[in-house]
Amino acid sequence: MTVRVRFAPSPTGYLHIGGARTALFTWLFARKHDGQFILRIEDTDQKRSVPGAIKAIQDDLRWLGLDWDEGPDTGGNFGPYIQSERIDLYQKHAEWLVEHGHAYHCYCTSDELSAMRKEQMEKKMPLGYDGRCRHLTPEQIAEKEEAELPSVIRFKMKREGETAIQDAVRGEIIYKNSQITDAVLLKSDGFPTYHLANVVDDHLMEITHIMRADEWINTAPLHINLYRAFGWDLPVYAHLSLILNPSGKGKLSKRTQSFSDSGQQVLVKVEEFRDGGYLPATVVNFLANIGYSTGDDREIYPVEEAIAAFQLKNINPAPSRLPYSKLDWLNGQYIQKLSPPELAAAIRPYVDAAGIGISAKALLAIAPAMSNRLKKLPDAIPFLAFMDDAANMDITASKLIHQKNLPPENALRGFQQARDLIAAIAPYNLDGISSGLLEIGAGVTMNGKAGPFLGKLRLGVTRQKVSPPVFEAILALGRDKTAVRLDEAIGLLSA
Ligand code: GLU
Repeated sequence: MTVRVRFAPSPTGYLHIGGARTALFTWLFARKHDGQFILRIEDTDQKRSVPGAIKAIQDDLRWLGLDWDEGPDTGGNFGPYIQSERIDLYQKHAEWLVEHGHAYHCYCTSDELSAMRKEQMEKKMPLGYDGRCRHLTPEQIAEKEEAELPSVIRFKMKREGETAIQDAVRGEIIYKNSQITDAVLLKSDGFPTYHLANVVDDHLMEITHIMRADEWINTAPLHINLYRAFGWDLPVYAHLSLILNPSGKGKLSKRTQSFSDSGQQVLVKVEEFRDGGYLPATVVNFLANIGYSTGDDREIYPVEEAIAAFQLKNINPAPSRLPYSKLDWLNGQYIQKLSPPELAAAIRPYVDAAGIGISAKALLAIAPAMSNRLKKLPDAIPFLAFMDDAANMDITASKLIHQKNLPPENALRGFQQARDLIAAIAPYNLDGISSGLLEIGAGVTMNGKAGPFLGKLRLGVTRQKVSPPVFEAILALGRDKTAVRLDEAIGLLSA
């Protein structure tokens, strides 16, 4: 059997980090089993659909690296993958249920339904539709149809017995059928409800496993009864655990507190992670351990390993919180794994947004020196400010000397020698720059060590308190710019 799983978001806005976790687990399962991961857009509740949300969700999934085999833009043999383009299918299936005695037209008006609810509340009866249209005679139905009364189609839920869900995460869960009301399947405007569209699509798209948030668990007994009424095989259900907000009280939502106990900002949209300078690999790792028992205490869990290790039985049903306090550390770890070209490419958008002019070559030159200093990508900005002439701090001669180890005349000599080295060095590379400057430094300091000189040289060249090490800074600045800055320092020291 080929595993076919789906992520089925409703386009009601941005991709929430909880939705991303559902997508990730579903995708891990598909990749583990060489199966297919399908993206289906559940937009039948047109009132709640937000323009642009389908694209935003797809962009966020792509950014996370969760690629889909079938979906709205990729196509596939089971399309269309947007439910509003499949309305006729749902109508056909609803009619089939009516014809076969599993569903019925209900003509109750909203006033009648509110009165029913009021009465149920007053009498402390279970809430829900009481099934009054179930028993309409053919004559009554004909009369209502004649009068062109609007109707919905409701499922004729069995009243007796029980429905058991075999959940791969939670085991068996039993519901009394009497507690499940006759849900609306098709609304009076001809649009399906979530229940009908979801079940019909999961069947027609040959979905084998349904992984979704635990908030949907109460819909599973109704869905199981729908499958049975259609005579279809059941998929495997796996309901994931709830993600709590950092206080541990309540579901993580966009209304949640904005800082966790550790002071870390609580991010809930995938785009907030991206804009904040976290890498997709970090976010994937951050989510892979949530509600999942890896069996060891490892915190770094690269995606290839998460795929290889993924098993439904290791999904943990207990609600859990996202460990926001570890996010920066984790991101630092993944930043260190990037190659210099990857890091340069990842930093580029932030550098451009900050208006720092730095060539591709210079950024690449500086990348290795930044790799273990960054927690978030925008942390690169203060490091790169030295590239911008306008951001220079004021340098005075006294800042370029050290009373004991680098008196003024030694500093001047060192800067002049450095100036000559920079002009002559060929090729202009890190090895040449560092070996030449180390030698100059050792020759001009009173203690014979390069350190005191290199510290002053760094300040003279970068003109920033925070900067990359001097060799990398000189490499990134390039020969001409470095020479200009050294000349200015020499001017100050000779005044
Ligand atoms: N459209 C539902 C949602 O937005 C999908 C639930 C399911 O996966 O069955 O979460």
